[in-house]
Amino acid sequence: MRRKIIAGNWKMNKTPTEAIALINELKPLVATKDADVVFCVPFVSLIPAVEAVKGTDIAIGAQNMYFEESGAYTGEVSPGMLVDIGVKYVIIGHSERRQYFAETDETVNKKVIKAFEHGLTPIICVGESLTQREQGITIDFVRQQVKIAFLNVTADQAKNAVIAYEPIWAIGTGKVATTEQAEEVCSAIRMCISEIYDVATAAAIRIQYGGSVTAASAADLFSQKDIDGGLVGGASLKADFGKIVNYK
Ligand code: PEP
Repeated sequence: MRRKIIAGNWKMNKTPTEAIALINELKPLVATKDADVVFCVPFVSLIPAVEAVKGTDIAIGAQNMYFEESGAYTGEVSPGMLVDIGVKYVIIGHSERRQYFAETDETVNKKVIKAFEHGLTPIICVGESLTQREQGITIDFVRQQVKIAFLNVTADQAKNAVIAYEPIWAIGTGKVATTEQAEEVCSAIRMCISEIYDVATAAAIRIQYGGSVTAASAADLFSQKDIDGGLVGGASLKADFGKIVNYK
């Protein structure tokens, strides 16, 4: 039985002072024994966030990292730096990073490999554009993203990965995918993992849905057979996140 995982992607929101206030507000609301809960906060808030969640079951995640250990990469943050401060998860290949910061399937793959080398759990984002959906190539496109993301990743590592299926047209638009659309793609992703590795790996890996999830849509989405929780943007910055985490 896979354990649900619900992660908030705060994006570029909240100063460190505001972040700690929000974490303190959310702490009692997201308390649950039924799911892993992760707050993915901006880099500058990671250290105080790790401190603020001490004594709770909440984990802290970063929203990006670089794939080198150290060196002349001005402005970048390495996996070792994240581990050193107590970060457990890292979002990799979010569509906003692919769109605005030229991330590719190849850089995603390099980052996934590095994250595992350092014991970080990657939340690997995949998902199609509206044009791709309308062209009927959603599954082919997402399968390709998954296959490249997992190149040279072992089955044991893959079992611990999290994949976030996030249709680009649903992110930040208020247009949530139907449960059928979300389940269809998450199920195809699981099938793809089974083809790359084996049935046991596919059964273990956790696949989230992301894209305009709210307290109203969480229960239907998260109760689908292949949907193991969500990656939540806008609604993770509000008390509503507590209702999403406790969706049952
Ligand atoms: C996201 O940023 O990963 C996301 C799903 O955003 P939203 O929930 O706001 O659509």
